[in-house]
Amino acid sequence: MKAKLIDGKATAERIRGEVKQAINQRLLEGKSQPGLATVLVGENPASKVYVRNKQKACAEVGIHSVGYNLPEETSQEELEALVRTLNADPAINGILVQLPLPKHLDEEKVLTAIDLTKDVDGFHPVNIGRLAQKGREPVFVPCTPAGCMVLLEESGAQISGANAVVLGRSNIVGMPVALLLVKADATVTIVHSRTKNIPEIVRSADILVTAIGQPEFVKKEWVKPGAYVIDVGINQVDDPNAKRGYRLVGDVAFDEVSEVAAAISPVPGGVGPMTIAMLLRNTLHAAQLADNA
Ligand code: NDP
Repeated sequence: MKAKLIDGKATAERIRGEVKQAINQRLLEGKSQPGLATVLVGENPASKVYVRNKQKACAEVGIHSVGYNLPEETSQEELEALVRTLNADPAINGILVQLPLPKHLDEEKVLTAIDLTKDVDGFHPVNIGRLAQKGREPVFVPCTPAGCMVLLEESGAQISGANAVVLGRSNIVGMPVALLLVKADATVTIVHSRTKNIPEIVRSADILVTAIGQPEFVKKEWVKPGAYVIDVGINQVDDPNAKRGYRLVGDVAFDEVSEVAAAISPVPGGVGPMTIAMLLRNTLHAAQLADNA
Protein backbone atom coordinates (compact mmCIF):
# COMPACT_ATOMS: atom_id res chain seq x y z
CA MET A 1 0.00 0.00 0.00
CA LYS A 2 1.17 3.52 -0.72
CA ALA A 3 0.07 5.95 1.97
CA LYS A 4 -1.84 9.11 1.23
CA LEU A 5 0.37 12.15 1.76
CA ILE A 6 -0.91 14.53 4.44
CA ASP A 7 0.04 17.86 2.91
CA GLY A 8 0.54 20.30 5.78
CA LYS A 9 1.88 22.98 3.48
CA ALA A 10 -1.34 23.10 1.45
CA THR A 11 -3.55 22.98 4.55
CA ALA A 12 -1.51 25.71 6.25
CA GLU A 13 -1.77 27.90 3.13
CA ARG A 14 -5.52 27.45 3.08
CA ILE A 15 -5.82 28.41 6.76
CA ARG A 16 -3.60 31.45 6.25
CA GLY A 17 -5.86 32.49 3.37
CA GLU A 18 -8.94 32.08 5.56
CA VAL A 19 -7.38 34.16 8.35
CA LYS A 20 -6.42 36.88 5.86
CA GLN A 21 -9.93 36.99 4.47
CA ALA A 22 -11.48 37.17 7.95
CA ILE A 23 -9.14 40.04 8.86
CA ASN A 24 -10.04 41.96 5.69
CA GLN A 25 -13.69 41.47 6.57
CA ARG A 26 -13.09 42.74 10.13
CA LEU A 27 -11.47 45.87 8.81
CA LEU A 28 -14.34 46.47 6.37
CA GLU A 29 -16.72 46.21 9.33
CA GLY A 30 -14.70 48.86 11.16
CA LYS A 31 -13.29 46.40 13.71
CA SER A 32 -9.73 46.54 15.01
CA GLN A 33 -6.71 45.03 13.29
CA PRO A 34 -5.52 42.00 15.30
CA GLY A 35 -2.19 42.60 17.05
CA LEU A 36 0.47 40.13 18.19
CA ALA A 37 3.40 40.91 20.48
CA THR A 38 6.40 38.61 20.20
CA VAL A 39 8.81 38.58 23.13
CA LEU A 40 12.27 37.15 22.57
CA VAL A 41 14.82 37.05 25.38
CA GLY A 42 18.47 36.47 24.49
CA GLU A 43 20.26 35.43 21.33
CA ASN A 44 19.14 31.84 20.63
CA PRO A 45 19.59 31.69 16.83
CA ALA A 46 16.78 29.17 16.25
CA SER A 47 14.38 31.27 18.35
CA LYS A 48 15.32 34.37 16.33
CA VAL A 49 14.42 32.56 13.10
CA TYR A 50 11.11 31.28 14.53
CA VAL A 51 10.13 34.77 15.73
CA ARG A 52 11.09 36.34 12.40
CA ASN A 53 9.00 33.78 10.52
CA LYS A 54 6.02 34.41 12.79
CA GLN A 55 6.27 38.18 12.27
CA LYS A 56 6.53 37.71 8.50
CA ALA A 57 3.46 35.46 8.48
CA CYS A 58 1.56 38.06 10.53
CA ALA A 59 2.36 40.76 7.98
CA GLU A 60 1.14 38.54 5.14
CA VAL A 61 -2.33 38.08 6.65
CA GLY A 62 -2.76 41.60 8.04
CA ILE A 63 -1.92 41.03 11.71
CA HIS A 64 -0.04 43.94 13.27
CA SER A 65 3.00 42.48 15.03
CA VAL A 66 5.28 44.18 17.51
CA GLY A 67 8.59 42.53 18.39
CA TYR A 68 10.30 42.92 21.78
CA ASN A 69 13.89 41.68 21.72
CA LEU A 70 15.21 41.72 25.26
CA PRO A 71 18.81 41.14 26.33
CA GLU A 72 19.89 37.78 27.77
CA GLU A 73 20.31 39.31 31.25
CA THR A 74 16.68 40.52 31.47
CA SER A 75 15.35 39.91 34.98
CA GLN A 76 12.20 38.02 35.92
CA GLU A 77 10.64 41.28 37.17
CA GLU A 78 11.42 43.10 33.92
CA LEU A 79 9.97 40.33 31.79
CA GLU A 80 6.81 40.01 33.87
CA ALA A 81 6.43 43.83 33.84
CA LEU A 82 6.52 43.76 30.03
CA VAL A 83 3.90 41.00 29.97
CA ARG A 84 1.67 43.05 32.28
CA THR A 85 2.05 46.11 30.03
CA LEU A 86 1.08 44.02 27.01
CA ASN A 87 -1.86 42.52 28.92
CA ALA A 88 -3.18 46.06 29.39
CA ASP A 89 -2.57 47.19 25.80
CA PRO A 90 -5.82 47.05 23.77
CA ALA A 91 -3.88 47.04 20.47
CA ILE A 92 -2.28 43.72 21.44
CA ASN A 93 -4.54 40.67 21.23
CA GLY A 94 -1.93 37.95 21.47
CA ILE A 95 1.27 37.66 23.52
CA LEU A 96 3.85 35.14 22.43
CA VAL A 97 6.86 34.63 24.70
CA GLN A 98 9.29 32.59 22.63
CA LEU A 99 10.52 29.49 24.47
CA PRO A 100 12.94 28.32 25.71
CA LEU A 101 13.76 31.24 28.00
CA PRO A 102 17.28 31.70 29.36
CA LYS A 103 17.89 29.41 32.35
CA HIS A 104 17.70 32.12 35.05
CA LEU A 105 14.09 32.92 34.15
CA ASP A 106 11.09 31.07 35.57
CA GLU A 107 9.12 30.01 32.49
CA GLU A 108 6.01 28.94 34.37
CA LYS A 109 5.73 32.26 36.20
CA VAL A 110 6.09 34.18 32.94
CA LEU A 111 3.48 32.06 31.17
CA THR A 112 1.13 32.43 34.14
CA ALA A 113 1.46 36.22 33.93
CA ILE A 114 -0.02 36.26 30.40
CA ASP A 115 -3.70 37.24 30.28
CA LEU A 116 -5.67 34.05 29.51
CA THR A 117 -7.48 35.78 26.66
CA LYS A 118 -4.14 36.74 25.04
CA ASP A 119 -2.42 33.37 25.50
CA VAL A 120 -2.22 32.60 21.77
CA ASP A 121 0.51 29.98 22.33
CA GLY A 122 -1.85 28.13 24.66
CA PHE A 123 0.82 27.43 27.28
CA HIS A 124 -0.80 29.22 30.24
CA PRO A 125 -1.17 26.59 32.98
CA VAL A 126 -4.93 27.24 33.12
CA ASN A 127 -5.31 26.61 29.39
CA ILE A 128 -3.26 23.41 29.64
CA GLY A 129 -5.22 22.40 32.77
CA ARG A 130 -8.52 22.85 30.96
CA LEU A 131 -7.22 20.64 28.14
CA ALA A 132 -6.78 17.90 30.72
CA GLN A 133 -10.24 18.28 32.24
CA LYS A 134 -13.44 16.73 31.05
CA GLY A 135 -16.10 19.22 30.01
CA ARG A 136 -13.73 22.19 30.15
CA GLU A 137 -12.36 23.98 27.11
CA PRO A 138 -9.14 25.99 26.93
CA VAL A 139 -9.37 29.50 25.48
CA PHE A 140 -6.45 28.57 23.20
CA VAL A 141 -4.88 25.26 22.19
CA PRO A 142 -1.08 25.12 21.67
CA CYS A 143 -0.27 25.66 18.00
CA THR A 144 1.72 22.56 16.99
CA PRO A 145 -0.66 20.11 18.74
CA ALA A 146 -3.66 21.95 17.25
CA GLY A 147 -2.02 21.63 13.83
CA CYS A 148 -1.61 17.87 14.33
CA MET A 149 -5.33 17.53 15.06
CA VAL A 150 -6.32 19.54 11.98
CA LEU A 151 -4.11 17.32 9.81
CA LEU A 152 -5.56 14.17 11.34
CA GLU A 153 -9.11 15.38 10.79
CA GLU A 154 -8.36 16.36 7.18
CA SER A 155 -6.69 13.01 6.51
CA GLY A 156 -10.00 11.31 7.20
CA ALA A 157 -8.77 9.42 10.27
CA GLN A 158 -11.50 8.17 12.57
CA ILE A 159 -10.29 9.57 15.89
CA SER A 160 -13.16 8.65 18.19
CA GLY A 161 -12.56 5.13 19.53
CA ALA A 162 -9.16 4.81 17.85
CA ASN A 163 -6.08 3.52 19.65
CA ALA A 164 -3.67 6.46 19.49
CA VAL A 165 -0.02 6.33 20.46
CA VAL A 166 1.92 9.54 21.08
CA LEU A 167 5.70 9.37 21.12
CA GLY A 168 7.00 12.10 23.41
CA ARG A 169 5.56 13.83 26.48
CA SER A 170 6.94 17.37 26.26
CA ASN A 171 4.89 20.31 27.49
CA ILE A 172 4.81 21.87 24.05
CA VAL A 173 3.97 18.90 21.81
CA GLY A 174 3.62 15.36 23.19
CA MET A 175 1.47 15.97 26.26
CA PRO A 176 -0.96 18.47 24.72
CA VAL A 177 -1.37 16.27 21.62
CA ALA A 178 -2.19 13.34 23.90
CA LEU A 179 -4.72 15.45 25.81
CA LEU A 180 -6.35 16.62 22.57
CA LEU A 181 -6.64 13.05 21.36
CA VAL A 182 -8.30 12.04 24.65
CA LYS A 183 -10.71 14.98 24.24
CA ALA A 184 -11.48 13.66 20.76
CA ASP A 185 -12.35 10.27 22.35
CA ALA A 186 -9.28 8.30 21.31
CA THR A 187 -7.69 5.80 23.72
CA VAL A 188 -4.20 7.16 24.19
CA THR A 189 -0.86 5.64 25.15
CA ILE A 190 2.07 8.01 25.74
CA VAL A 191 5.57 6.71 25.03
CA HIS A 192 8.70 8.33 26.50
CA SER A 193 12.34 7.56 27.09
CA ARG A 194 11.62 5.07 29.91
CA THR A 195 8.93 3.14 28.02
CA LYS A 196 9.53 -0.57 27.50
CA ASN A 197 8.61 -2.47 24.32
CA ILE A 198 8.15 0.63 22.19
CA PRO A 199 7.74 -1.26 18.86
CA GLU A 200 4.97 -3.38 20.35
CA ILE A 201 3.09 -0.34 21.66
CA VAL A 202 3.51 1.51 18.36
CA ARG A 203 2.06 -1.54 16.55
CA SER A 204 -1.19 -1.08 18.48
CA ALA A 205 -1.71 2.42 17.04
CA ASP A 206 -4.49 3.27 14.62
CA ILE A 207 -3.18 6.82 15.00
CA LEU A 208 0.48 7.52 15.65
CA VAL A 209 1.90 10.95 16.51
CA THR A 210 5.67 11.15 16.88
CA ALA A 211 7.39 14.04 18.68
CA ILE A 212 10.68 12.76 20.11
CA GLY A 213 13.38 14.35 17.95
CA GLN A 214 15.00 11.03 16.94
CA PRO A 215 15.73 10.73 13.21
CA GLU A 216 13.76 7.96 11.43
CA PHE A 217 13.19 6.17 14.72
CA VAL A 218 9.90 4.49 13.79
CA LYS A 219 10.33 1.58 11.36
CA LYS A 220 7.92 -0.01 8.94
CA GLU A 221 7.64 -3.22 10.99
CA TRP A 222 6.37 -1.20 13.98
CA VAL A 223 3.47 0.37 12.13
CA LYS A 224 0.04 -1.22 11.88
CA PRO A 225 -1.11 -1.47 8.26
CA GLY A 226 -3.65 1.29 7.66
CA ALA A 227 -2.43 3.53 10.49
CA TYR A 228 -2.55 7.34 10.29
CA VAL A 229 0.88 8.80 11.02
CA ILE A 230 1.63 12.40 12.01
CA ASP A 231 5.35 13.09 12.26
CA VAL A 232 6.21 16.18 14.30
CA GLY A 233 9.94 15.49 14.60
CA ILE A 234 12.40 17.76 12.83
CA ASN A 235 15.90 16.28 12.73
CA GLN A 236 19.01 17.26 10.80
CA VAL A 237 20.98 14.38 9.30
CA ASP A 238 24.25 14.73 7.39
CA ASP A 239 23.86 14.60 3.64
CA PRO A 240 26.90 15.45 1.52
CA ASN A 241 24.64 15.71 -1.56
CA ALA A 242 22.50 18.43 0.00
CA LYS A 243 23.37 22.09 -0.55
CA ARG A 244 23.72 22.79 3.19
CA GLY A 245 25.41 19.47 3.92
CA TYR A 246 22.37 18.16 5.78
CA ARG A 247 18.73 17.37 5.20
CA LEU A 248 15.70 17.33 7.46
CA VAL A 249 13.97 14.10 8.40
CA GLY A 250 11.21 13.27 10.82
CA ASP A 251 10.96 10.73 13.64
CA VAL A 252 9.49 8.23 11.18
CA ALA A 253 11.36 6.35 8.45
CA PHE A 254 9.14 8.00 5.86
CA ASP A 255 9.76 5.90 2.73
CA GLU A 256 9.33 2.51 4.33
CA VAL A 257 6.46 3.51 6.64
CA SER A 258 4.53 4.99 3.70
CA GLU A 259 4.37 1.47 2.31
CA VAL A 260 2.11 0.37 5.19
CA ALA A 261 0.39 3.47 6.61
CA ALA A 262 -2.97 4.72 5.30
CA ALA A 263 -1.74 8.30 5.47
CA ILE A 264 1.44 10.02 6.61
CA SER A 265 2.67 13.59 7.03
CA PRO A 266 6.10 14.33 5.53
CA VAL A 267 9.03 16.25 7.02
CA PRO A 268 9.39 18.95 5.86
CA GLY A 269 5.95 20.03 4.63
CA GLY A 270 3.77 18.30 7.22
CA VAL A 271 3.26 19.61 10.74
CA GLY A 272 5.93 22.32 10.44
CA PRO A 273 3.89 24.82 8.37
CA MET A 274 0.81 24.20 10.52
CA THR A 275 2.33 25.72 13.66
CA ILE A 276 2.42 29.26 12.31
CA ALA A 277 -0.97 28.87 10.62
CA MET A 278 -2.50 27.93 13.98
CA LEU A 279 -0.79 30.89 15.66
CA LEU A 280 -2.39 33.24 13.12
CA ARG A 281 -5.75 31.58 13.67
CA ASN A 282 -5.36 31.90 17.46
CA THR A 283 -4.46 35.58 17.13
CA LEU A 284 -7.57 36.23 15.04
CA HIS A 285 -9.59 34.37 17.69
CA ALA A 286 -8.04 36.58 20.39
CA ALA A 287 -9.13 39.69 18.47
CA GLN A 288 -12.66 38.26 18.18
CA LEU A 289 -12.70 37.66 21.95
CA ALA A 290 -11.67 41.28 22.50
CA ASP A 291 -14.56 42.45 20.24
CA ASN A 292 -17.00 40.82 22.62
CA ALA A 293 -15.23 41.76 25.86
P1 NDP B 1 11.59 17.42 23.81
O1 NDP B 1 13.03 17.11 23.71
O2 NDP B 1 11.09 18.47 24.74
O3 NDP B 1 10.82 16.07 24.19
C1 NDP B 1 11.15 14.86 23.58
C2 NDP B 1 10.25 13.77 24.14
O4 NDP B 1 10.60 12.56 23.46
C3 NDP B 1 10.47 13.51 25.63
O5 NDP B 1 9.21 13.24 26.22
C4 NDP B 1 11.36 12.28 25.66
O6 NDP B 1 11.14 11.43 26.76
C5 NDP B 1 10.94 11.55 24.40
N1 NDP B 1 12.02 10.76 23.82
C6 NDP B 1 13.24 11.20 23.41
N2 NDP B 1 13.96 10.18 22.93
C7 NDP B 1 13.19 9.06 23.02
C8 NDP B 1 13.37 7.71 22.67
N3 NDP B 1 14.51 7.27 22.13
N4 NDP B 1 12.36 6.86 22.90
C9 NDP B 1 11.20 7.28 23.45
N5 NDP B 1 10.96 8.56 23.79
C10 NDP B 1 11.95 9.44 23.58
O7 NDP B 1 11.12 17.70 22.34
P2 NDP B 1 9.88 18.54 21.74
O8 NDP B 1 8.61 17.94 22.18
O9 NDP B 1 10.12 19.98 21.95
O10 NDP B 1 10.10 18.25 20.18
C11 NDP B 1 10.02 16.96 19.65
C12 NDP B 1 10.34 17.02 18.16
O11 NDP B 1 9.35 17.80 17.51
C13 NDP B 1 11.68 17.68 17.83
O12 NDP B 1 12.24 17.03 16.72
C14 NDP B 1 11.31 19.09 17.47
O13 NDP B 1 12.22 19.69 16.59
C15 NDP B 1 9.97 18.88 16.81
N6 NDP B 1 9.08 20.04 16.88
C16 NDP B 1 8.46 20.45 15.74
C17 NDP B 1 7.61 21.51 15.74
C18 NDP B 1 6.93 21.91 14.48
O14 NDP B 1 6.84 21.14 13.56
N7 NDP B 1 6.42 23.07 14.35
C19 NDP B 1 7.35 22.30 16.96
C20 NDP B 1 7.99 21.74 18.13
C21 NDP B 1 8.83 20.66 18.08
P3 NDP B 1 11.38 11.88 28.30
O15 NDP B 1 10.22 12.76 28.64
O16 NDP B 1 11.38 10.62 29.06
O17 NDP B 1 12.68 12.62 28.31
